[in-house]
Amino acid sequence: MIVFKFGGTSVKDSDGVRNLFNIVKTCSDNLIIVVSALGKTTNALEEILKLSLDESDKCKIKLESLKDYHFDIIKNLFPDKKHEIYEQIEEQFKNLYSESFDKKHDSFDLKYDQVVSFGEIFSTKIISAFLNSQEFSNKWIDIRKVLITDDTYREAKIDMKLSKTKVEENISFKDNNIYLTQGFIGGSKSGFVTTLGREGSDYTAAVLGNLLDAEKVVVWKDVDGVLNADPQYFNETKKLDKISYQEAVELAYFGAKVIHPKTLKPLHNKNIPLFVRSFINPEGQGTEIDCFQKYDQNLPIFILKKDQMLISLFPKDLSFVMEDELSKIFSYLSEQRIRVNLIQNSAISFSLCIDNANSKSKQLLEKFKDDYKVLYNDQLELLTIRHYSEEAIKKVTEGRKIYIEQRSRHTSHFVIK
Ligand code: ASP
Ligand code: MG
Repeated sequence: MIVFKFGGTSVKDSDGVRNLFNIVKTCSDNLIIVVSALGKTTNALEEILKLSLDESDKCKIKLESLKDYHFDIIKNLFPDKKHEIYEQIEEQFKNLYSESFDKKHDSFDLKYDQVVSFGEIFSTKIISAFLNSQEFSNKWIDIRKVLITDDTYREAKIDMKLSKTKVEENISFKDNNIYLTQGFIGGSKSGFVTTLGREGSDYTAAVLGNLLDAEKVVVWKDVDGVLNADPQYFNETKKLDKISYQEAVELAYFGAKVIHPKTLKPLHNKNIPLFVRSFINPEGQGTEIDCFQKYDQNLPIFILKKDQMLISLFPKDLSFVMEDELSKIFSYLSEQRIRVNLIQNSAISFSLCIDNANSKSKQLLEKFKDDYKVLYNDQLELLTIRHYSEEAIKKVTEGRKIYIEQRSRHTSHFVIK
């Protein structure tokens, strides 16, 4: 069996859904199709949640426009207004309204998951019904009852053992050849919906691949495959035909957006190849990620992470930054779930480069200011070059101010402005 995953961009409108149909209908294997929310629905739901807290009028307007967006797509796909999908999605929007306004939850993160998870419910109900209407018979699976997680809302961890049992109960290729389900979401043991972290649908596909011993997992993207640089920031890009899991992990970790960092592990553990292919150009071969270390080329690969903050801590009493100090710092970072992209220490200072996307970086500065002299720079970029050459480095760092530079055998990093 094979797992296909389609992200929001691939199904942002009715043409996208038809394109998905054209791709899946050529597949003759047993198949699970994992789908994200339509277009930018997840962002819209995040906004709805925020507005629901204190601006209920604005929130209702936003909800109406999200509903219109979905119904425009439905009207296009189902000319028969009596099709049951109309009622089903109407019902789901009612549920979303009541989740947004009526229900009280203990924490924001818990509420977040209950609200934001609707995107995938809408999209998969619509797409499953559409495929069935085209005689592409498939069974809709409620992944909230299959991928069982802990209750770390917004970043839930999947209980692989329990989920394996549920997968076996719900997905067998005896009665059905095609299943369609939601990416990004799961269900906690206490019965709430959970989410696996933004952009988490690739990860869902990988976990299902692992649990079902898939032959391969294919993620359909808006690029031809994994490129050696993000075309948004770099002019010349080349597609990588085959890369190893190791290479892919490095790329994902340092910010190559095409693969979600968590995706590789479940596949690597079972040696399941991952294909990154283009839904715009489905005939293309894309990139194959496998255990092909020998295929990793010496082509420099450029990865840029924007909006970085570089923080340097100097102990006020001039004590050396040794194990004790470091472990204090790291416990805090892990407690706060602050992602550290690069570290560097000297005898009397410790520097770390983190994503500066939320208020946590400010809290961090506050937290350490009693024991340390804290210096920081923000609006920096972290540039990683795999398989670097002097020429490659020069090309991308020339004229930039370099704050930190690190080189290992295959990888170099630059914190730059
Ligand atoms: N819909 C979710 C998001 O936008 C999950 C995903 O797209 O992978 O974050
Ligand atoms: Mg999405």
